[in-house]
Amino acid sequence: MDIENRYQHLPSPVMPKVPPQKLLLGQKALVTGASSGIGRAIAVALADAGADVVINYSSGEEKARILVAELAERGARAIAVRADVGDESQVEAMFRRTIDEFGTVDIVVNNAGLQQDAPFHEMTLAQWNRVMNVNLTGQFLCSRAAVREFRRRGVRPEVSCSAGKILCISSVHEVIPWAGHVNYAASKGGVMLMMKSIAQEVAPYRIRVNSICPGAIRTPINMEAWDTPKAYGELMKLIPYKRIGEADEIGRAAVWLASDYADYVHGISLFVDGGMTLYPGFETGG
Ligand code: NAD
Repeated sequence: MDIENRYQHLPSPVMPKVPPQKLLLGQKALVTGASSGIGRAIAVALADAGADVVINYSSGEEKARILVAELAERGARAIAVRADVGDESQVEAMFRRTIDEFGTVDIVVNNAGLQQDAPFHEMTLAQWNRVMNVNLTGQFLCSRAAVREFRRRGVRPEVSCSAGKILCISSVHEVIPWAGHVNYAASKGGVMLMMKSIAQEVAPYRIRVNSICPGAIRTPINMEAWDTPKAYGELMKLIPYKRIGEADEIGRAAVWLASDYADYVHGISLFVDGGMTLYPGFETGG
């Protein structure tokens, strides 16, 4: 078997069954688009780390309700709040509800996102606007509401050494161009400079802002890229580490980045991608 395929059959790692560290004890988190995929995994990981969690959703109320119950069973307080992240008044109402219920918010994870793919010459303005509205404007609206609350409240040293944390869920496509997905790649490129510019501006208030850039993670958004052996084999050509990522791996990265262990980490894009950004086409020397 050649080196490329030697490990492809191995399953993703199962984490050892040690009790999760309560790195986020006493903190209040809001995760957008949290009823499925990566957002769901982040919500579970934050709750296991001791945070109370707002589960934002725009559709799929039942899945959000089930997640709230699951988090309660795991010992966390959670509420589900419906809001379209691209709608200013709904985002404002969601933050008001969060502060009414939890008193404040310490961690905001801008996860909600979608794709509306089309060859560029056929892409409609509606497809362009929809992706920008959710993936970029949504992150702007939620980040702005978060910064307002973090600045109002300031640092509570007994809870965290920062006044608040924003995690933007971006993508490897903030740096890798993506034919057929121009709107998506443009939105994530926008997230990168939005995140860094906000980070530069709000650092003096002890507010930390960072991104996580997933590579290929097994979720509904990209099922056609992994749900048949043929598709999976093709995908592996893009991943030097030769396996797909799992949503809870993004959850663990989010816990660390939101915790005081990462207090000096500010304005970065953390790539969690099995090396997808390492120009895999050059694996064999180019
Ligand atoms: P997903 O489709 O399971 O999750 C996206 C979530 O966003 C869904 O729950 C959806 O209902 C929600 N959403 C969509 N529009 C919304 C709106 N207007 N308001 C509120 N919520 C809304 O897909 P996922 O893979 O879990 O994606 C989560 C994030 O990760 C996205 O930002 C995506 O771009 C990013 N990402 C995913 C991958 C991957 O391989 N899965 C790779 C890179 C980046």
